[in-house]
Amino acid sequence: MLIARKIAAVRSFWAHLRGKSLGFVPTMGDLHDGHLSLICRSKRENDFTAVSIFVNPTQFNQKNDFLNYHKDERRDLALLRQEKVDLVFLPSAKEMYKESFQTEVNVNDLSRGLCGPYRPGHFKGVSTVVAKLFSIVRPTRAYFGMKDFQQLKVIERMVQDLNLLVRIVACPTVREKDGLAMSSRNRRLSTQERVHAVKFSRALKVAARAPKPGLALFLKEADLYKKDVDYFEIVDPQTLLPTRKKPYVAAAAVWIGKTRIIDNVWVP
Ligand code: AMP
Repeated sequence: MLIARKIAAVRSFWAHLRGKSLGFVPTMGDLHDGHLSLICRSKRENDFTAVSIFVNPTQFNQKNDFLNYHKDERRDLALLRQEKVDLVFLPSAKEMYKESFQTEVNVNDLSRGLCGPYRPGHFKGVSTVVAKLFSIVRPTRAYFGMKDFQQLKVIERMVQDLNLLVRIVACPTVREKDGLAMSSRNRRLSTQERVHAVKFSRALKVAARAPKPGLALFLKEADLYKKDVDYFEIVDPQTLLPTRKKPYVAAAAVWIGKTRIIDNVWVP
């Protein structure tokens, strides 16, 4: 497994590919089974697999969220070695953003709704860094989780609009046995908060099937106050605009204590 901390090292790896396919899984590290499912799929569908670990400062709209983001490089690298990943790209923020850096990619409409108003600048940070990662790694296919549904849609749009030569592969959300969607942020939940997080996932599932009572039903089932909820919305999977027509996606973001969690349910 090649560990590349510099962009130039990724380029030299690329030189060895000789036309073979390369799958790519961008992550922020603190790997869990959700990430590993993307890696397994990439390994199945490509000759080589690359993973990036980069906690991208420009996509955090709260400094503390960035500073508190859990990092464990040794554990992550051990897991990636076990999975027989071929390349890990672990750049520093300085390697990614030189002092003169001034270019941004913004996917306008899809970044506007759902998490958009609650995380100003977040999706611009994501689309910019992913565009940069694609241009460094130059993958044949890139794997994204449906857990971050809006992010997936933003990236798909960016790839189409900029004619990028990469195929985006959407992968299903991996959940704990009790239904909670796996996330690096779950480790911040206390035992009591985790009980609430599970209720949140279940409530989303129930409310997704009964869109009329919508938010009221969601709040009741989740046992949450309105002030804990950033949004609960039923949206069109392509435009992310409110709809009542199937297929739709029910998506929500809530605060459980100091941790913000998101999840969504696809209703065909
Ligand atoms: P992150 O490290 O949280 O930025 O996530 C990296 C990638 O893993 C993104 O494409 C996420 O959507 C995906 N991912 C995170 N959690 C899960 C999950 N529980 N199931 C499937 N994919 C996930």
